[in-house]
Amino acid sequence: MMHSTTPDLSLVVPVLNEEDAIPIFLETVTPILEQTGLTYEVIFIDDGSTDRTVDIIQDTARQNPLVCLIQLTRNFGKEAALTAGLDWSRGAAVIPMDVDLQDPPELILEFVKLWQDGYDIVFGQRADRSSDNGPKRWSAQLFYRIFNFMSVHHIADGSGDYRLMNRAAVEATVQLRERNRFMKGLFAWIGFNAMAVPFSRPKRAAGHTKFSAWKLWNFAIDGITSFSTVPLRIWTYVGMSVAFGAIIYTSILIIRTLIFGVDVPGYASLMAVVLLLGAVQLISLGIIGEYLGRLYLEVKQRPIYLVRDTIGLKPPCKQTIQDTDKTTQ
Ligand code: UDP
Ligand code: MG
Repeated sequence: MMHSTTPDLSLVVPVLNEEDAIPIFLETVTPILEQTGLTYEVIFIDDGSTDRTVDIIQDTARQNPLVCLIQLTRNFGKEAALTAGLDWSRGAAVIPMDVDLQDPPELILEFVKLWQDGYDIVFGQRADRSSDNGPKRWSAQLFYRIFNFMSVHHIADGSGDYRLMNRAAVEATVQLRERNRFMKGLFAWIGFNAMAVPFSRPKRAAGHTKFSAWKLWNFAIDGITSFSTVPLRIWTYVGMSVAFGAIIYTSILIIRTLIFGVDVPGYASLMAVVLLLGAVQLISLGIIGEYLGRLYLEVKQRPIYLVRDTIGLKPPCKQTIQDTDKTTQ
């Protein structure tokens, strides 16, 4: 089946060292896509793989015109790879998806149905996280709590990148060209008429996770700093409370000295106050540093990703290509 230049559905699949997962993914997803009765394309974005991932996709893409490849020049991270996929996608609806089948492909049928019913965005919502271990579950829950407390734009609990977006929602998302890309937050920021589909997240079909605890921690900091300035503002209040406490404490000291005369001991309390204030100042400086560093990255205006090669895709015609254009000039 050859598709016209604009398919109904674009699957956007970022991959990093997924040689084992890709064949299983295609085997599982293809019958479901056929079942929708819609035209489609599957866009793999190679995010700097060092195994046979690219060879496998190239071989498949040469035989099957519905499979396309965007090869990035190095590992830019999943958020950048997703952005590349959204930029180059042409479908009337786009579905970003993990390759490891942790985003159950059967859901596509439900997504498409709700899209055809008129929803702009249909997102998968993890109803239970039993496939994750305890610490990962708790930390994820804690993260969503803190994020939603600090950010004006709330992320639905348990929602990830797995979703269907209509063209308008995709165009809105790709207009956001910030370098610190927290896609879940960007997806929430654009608004539109969205509907949730609950699912339980299965275990990885093949290969292993690409996100270490350290990477997730940094990802969480990126997410919060991208969507909230509460961590910056909080120091004004901490500073005011400490100053208030200091005034009261000093008054007590003065009164006590006037009544009871000079008293010398006080090493312990002095040390406690000095250390506490030192720590508070360092933390607040560190937080300013976090924001300053991100600001620096934004100001440099570097492209979000660089493309080395593509198969089966025409360059996007819209302004969103600006980023990649610079590399070819
Ligand atoms: N991925 C990527 N670039 C990265 C890390 C991950 O393209 O730097 C892809 C990966 O190949 C997979 C998806 O992002 O298709 C989700 O990654 P993973 O399953 O490792 O994350 P987890 O499900 O463990 O959170
Ligand atoms: Mg996974």
